[in-house]
Parts: sequence; C-alpha cells; structure tokens
Amino acid sequence: MKITVIGSGYVGLTTGSCLADKGHVVVCADKDSKKINQLKKGKIPFYEAGLENLVLKNLKLKNLSFTCDLKDAIQNSDIVFCCVWTPPDNDFKPDISAVFDVAGKFGKYINSDKIFIIKSTVPVGTNEKCIVIIQNEIIKRKTKFKFDVVSNPEFLRQGTAVNDTLKPDRIVVGAKNNKIKRTMRKLYKSFIKKRTPIFFTDLKTAELIKYAANAFLAAKISFINEIANFCRLKKCRIKDVEKGLKLDKRIGPAYLDSGAGYGGSCLKKDIKALIKQGEENKFNFALLKSVEEINEKQKLKPYFILKKKLGSLKNKNIAVWGVAFKPDTDSVNEAASVKIVQKLLNDKAKVKIYDPKAANKFMEIFKKNRGIGNSVSALDAAKNADALLILSKWPEFKKINLKKQILAGLVVLDLN
Ligand code: NAD
Repeated sequence: MKITVIGSGYVGLTTGSCLADKGHVVVCADKDSKKINQLKKGKIPFYEAGLENLVLKNLKLKNLSFTCDLKDAIQNSDIVFCCVWTPPDNDFKPDISAVFDVAGKFGKYINSDKIFIIKSTVPVGTNEKCIVIIQNEIIKRKTKFKFDVVSNPEFLRQGTAVNDTLKPDRIVVGAKNNKIKRTMRKLYKSFIKKRTPIFFTDLKTAELIKYAANAFLAAKISFINEIANFCRLKKCRIKDVEKGLKLDKRIGPAYLDSGAGYGGSCLKKDIKALIKQGEENKFNFALLKSVEEINEKQKLKPYFILKKKLGSLKNKNIAVWGVAFKPDTDSVNEAASVKIVQKLLNDKAKVKIYDPKAANKFMEIFKKNRGIGNSVSALDAAKNADALLILSKWPEFKKINLKKQILAGLVVLDLN
C-alpha cells in the first residue's frame, strides 16, 4: 500500500519506518524542513533504540522517503496517517490545531478515494470534527472524492517504540464500516501475530481507550509509589511488596516499580487532558486528580530524603545518575531529575550528572547555572561525591558494584 505519514516525530517516524520495513511504500511528511532534511540523510532528531537502523535500511531500500510537500504526499497515497503533536495549552487542554490543519489539507488535496487515520492522541469527538473539516474542504472544491476517517490510537512507549510497534499487544481501531475494517486488517497483517487482537470499535470509544490506558498506567505508578512511601515508614521491603503484587495475574507485573514518579511527554499530558474533558462535561475525575497530585509530590521525594540524611546541602557534592525520564530514551520531558536538580542548585549544592543519552538535553535546561557539571561516566560523576542519586536506572548502572567501586561513606539513594 502507498502510505503517507504526516508528523515525523516519535510516533510518525516510528510508525512510518515500521510500515516501510513490512514492505509498504511510505512517505513521512512534516512541516519542519530542518527535521526533514536531517531525516533524508538518515539522521534521527532523538534517540530511540533501533530506529536509526530501521530508517537507514528502508531509505536504502527506497521503501521510505521524507518530504515537506504535504500536497504531493497526500496525493500520492492511498492511506494518510495523522501523527502530529497535540500539546497541552497553559490550561492542559490539548491543542488539536495541528490535527485540524492536517485534516483540512487532506480535504484540500484529496485527488482519489482515500483513508485518513488519526494516530495522534485527541479528545473524544475530534475524529468526528475532522470528518466535517474534510467534508467542507471537499464541498468547497466541488469534487466528490470519498474518504473514511479512522481512529487508530498509538500505545508505543519511548525507549521501546520500535519493538512496541512491530509487536503490539493489541491494535485498536475506531472505524465505521466493514470495508475499512478489512483494509485495516490488511494494513497491519504483518504486525499481527497469532494472538494479537485487532479490536474494532467506534471512533469516539477508540479515542477514549487511549486516554483510559494512559490514565490507568499512571494510576498504577502513583499507587505503588504511595505504597513505597508507607513501606519506608514501616521499614517493609518495597521490592518484595512489588514482587508479591506482580505475581498476581489479576494485577500484572507492568508499571509496578516504585521510583521518582512518572515523566515523559504523555502520561501527565493525557491524564490532565482527560481531567479537562471531564470538567468540560461537568464530570469529576477524582481518582485521576489524586494520581497526578501524588506523582508531582513523588518527583521531589528523593530530594527530601536526601535533605533529611545530609542536613544542609550547601556546598555538598551530589552525583545524579540517569536524568532521562526513564532508561533507553534521551527525553528529559517532565523528568523528576529536572525538579530535583533545580532544588539542589537552589540549596547551593554542587551537582554532577551522568546519563548515557540524555545529558546534553538536560544540560541545555541548566546552561545558565554554574553549580552543575556533566560527567563522562557514572563513576566519574560519583567521584568525591557526598551523595549519589540514582533516578532512571540505565542497564549500565546495574553492572557497577557500588560497594566496591565507589568510595565508602557515600550516601546512595535509589528509589527504583
Ligand atoms: P512529536 O512532537 O515528536 O512530533 C510531532 C511532529 O508533528 C513534529 O515533527 C512536528 O513538526 C509535526 N507537526 C506539527 N504540526 C504539523 C502540521 N500542521 N503539519 C505537519 N507536521 C506537523 O510528537 P509525538 O511524540 O510523535 O506525538 C504525536 C502524537 O502521538 C501526540 O498526539 C502524542 O500525544 C501521541 N503519542 C505519543 C507517544 C509518545 O510516546 N511520544 C505515544 C503515543 C501517542
């Protein structure tokens, strides 16, 4: 199938290159010409394990190409994916103007019957609004091309995006008719393993499944963090509590690792967006509000524990390992590390950070600050430190024998 993916960020680039790898002919489009020019050379603007190889391989095979020409990209495809951003505004209401912009362009340029698939995370009712936008553009042009709008929310996780896309747990599709259902099955044929369900529902329900999934995952994290805080108080073993829970099939093992709260570009954004949608409908998401409140407090937990252990932090040398919001990504979006390091610097502590991939993005945030340095290795960061904070646990940290390789007397704080 000839496929265009509009929005070549995390979701678009991963979706596009995985579809290309499965033999489809894919054009990834974006309004950001700098990004597109880099991608044409096989340069990925962020770190995601395995993605660069996939892009390079499919560029070479000519299954994958990049463009800023949305008109050309739309006209030369059967299927158009919309993977543009939906960032929160100041009030945490999702800004869906980019989705509407792309829907408008789809209507403006459509030159044969096509399918418009929305992967961006959008509030309930957005797909239906896009149908109206596209229809109006088609009417303006006095043409009669047929189109279908399909909601196909994305569940990939940063850090494991390629694997999540190639081997999804399930594929959720909001679609109106059986013909579309057949096309969607064909499109995802090579992604669907024997037991991978492709779940069909209506447009609005598919939109809500995405928000509900992220809200539930966030709730699991806040839940285990609250239990971990109580464990600390009662001197129970949190890792054993986690294990005891994970072994219960009704509960499941995922998202039950206590730590410094959730970060990243999605969980907070989506949970806040769902709360907002509730408010607009006079519905109170009381549980979700607590989930968010617990998480914001949890992000500073390591700082307060450290302060209790060390007293004044003035001129204390603090090493921070893992500033990415989680391992295997270079994203520091909403990461606990940003809040904690800001607090440490306010207290005039001297901070040395180490992260295998996210250090540059992190240092950019603190570039005006003199009290912080970026170390070449984890051991270098910990040298002469009074305390070590381990925030996101990259695999290489597990190989370090803290007792043997790091000076005695160092306060080590690892909430993971
Ligand atoms: P991103 O910021 O990485 O990429 C978005 C891309 O869209 C950018 O390259 C931007 O230039 C482009 N864009 C914006 N407006 C455009 C327009 N009008 N025309 C053409 N291109 C335009 O965002 P992302 O992380 O890929 O997220 C995309 C959507 O997928 C969001 O709704 C997000 O909530 C959702 N999502 C993200 C993840 C994730 O882990 N990142 C997971 C699941 C769902």
